[in-house]
Amino acid sequence: MSENINSKYQVNEKGYYGQFGGAYIPEMLHPNIEELQQKYLEIIYDENFQKEFQQLLKDYVGRPTPLYFASRLSEKFQTQIYLKREDLCHTGAHKVNNTIGQILLAKRLGKTRIIAETGAGQHGVATATVCALMNLPCVVYMGEVDIQRQAPNVKRMQLLGAEVRPATSGSKTLKDATNEAMRDWIANPTDTHYIIGSVVGPHPFPDMVARFQSVISEEIKQQLNEKTGKENPDFVVACVGGGSNAAGAFYHFLDDEKVQLVAVEAAGHGVHSGKSAATTQLGRIGVLHSSKTLFMQTEDGQVVEPHSISAGLDYPGIGPMHANLFDTKRAHFLSATDDEALKAVQLLAKLEGIIPALESAHAIAVLDRIGAKQNDVVVLNLSGRGDKDLDTYIREII
Ligand SMILES: *Cc1c(COP(=O)(O)O)cnc(C)c1O
Repeated sequence: MSENINSKYQVNEKGYYGQFGGAYIPEMLHPNIEELQQKYLEIIYDENFQKEFQQLLKDYVGRPTPLYFASRLSEKFQTQIYLKREDLCHTGAHKVNNTIGQILLAKRLGKTRIIAETGAGQHGVATATVCALMNLPCVVYMGEVDIQRQAPNVKRMQLLGAEVRPATSGSKTLKDATNEAMRDWIANPTDTHYIIGSVVGPHPFPDMVARFQSVISEEIKQQLNEKTGKENPDFVVACVGGGSNAAGAFYHFLDDEKVQLVAVEAAGHGVHSGKSAATTQLGRIGVLHSSKTLFMQTEDGQVVEPHSISAGLDYPGIGPMHANLFDTKRAHFLSATDDEALKAVQLLAKLEGIIPALESAHAIAVLDRIGAKQNDVVVLNLSGRGDKDLDTYIREII
């Protein structure tokens, strides 16, 4: 992990990616955000921080995750496909790379209490996990509707010692949980760190989360070099909710414009069905979660409730880095519907013996349309495993 980056696709000193990003926060949060902005790089590139971070990624998370040549999948799509196995991380997805980084940062900032927001509960579980590891009290805000929809993850968080607090306003889903978490942070500015779960939120969160997740592309480069003699693939494909697994998979390839970056959004029932989460196709610029970015909104700027069969992609916006990658056309944005994702789950299960998370299945679903040729090398970031989605698979597939 290196500190110096000088890329037009990375955040600038002001916290912007092109026209996207920034920190549109209430006055009361200025001290917290300013402290973070001033200290985060110094803290995370400190030698001792890196030592502890790398050690935990190795011994606790199980990194490096394998880069697996999927021969039967490759044969099916007539190209060379490698799967980056984030599904093998402790807790079953990439999210823990970020929560480990942020809890180490919180400790160095002298914080003694952690809060987080969660939609489906995946980020809540990853946060509760590292709070147990570091013996810090943890409060996770979750919409009341989501608490009912995602009961197993609520139980997991409780088993890990976290308190799950219901958000009872508005639609009682993720954005309401986010508002509650913000309110808590404003009320407890000195002792509390707010662990945001994706490359979203006010600067420096998007950049900080991208840096913690960049271990994914750092490993891809090394592993691909060992396997093929070349560091760079022709394509990197990843699903995008807020965009953290994609940011991590793209990170070290951003400036190598020969590497085609493919971001896959959830089209739900179809991009124009009214039940979708295809942000770049439906969204407009505005301020969401304290950051200027693209999100789905009504004429007068109200957030439109997204829909995706996969909880992790069921988010109305994308982080500012991805908004800029879309705007500059550096990344190619595609989408897959609920049905296409379900078919991709079956495909990977039967061809490779790997049951992917629904989110990751969206990336698999576009493999026939990225334009890869026989000898092209495609790295697909398999962001998580399917255990959490078994109920959906039983209902929809089996
Ligand atoms: C949360 C989640 C996602 C979506 O989040 P990003 O920040 O876009 O990566 C994707 N895949 C899995 C398995 C998840 O749990």
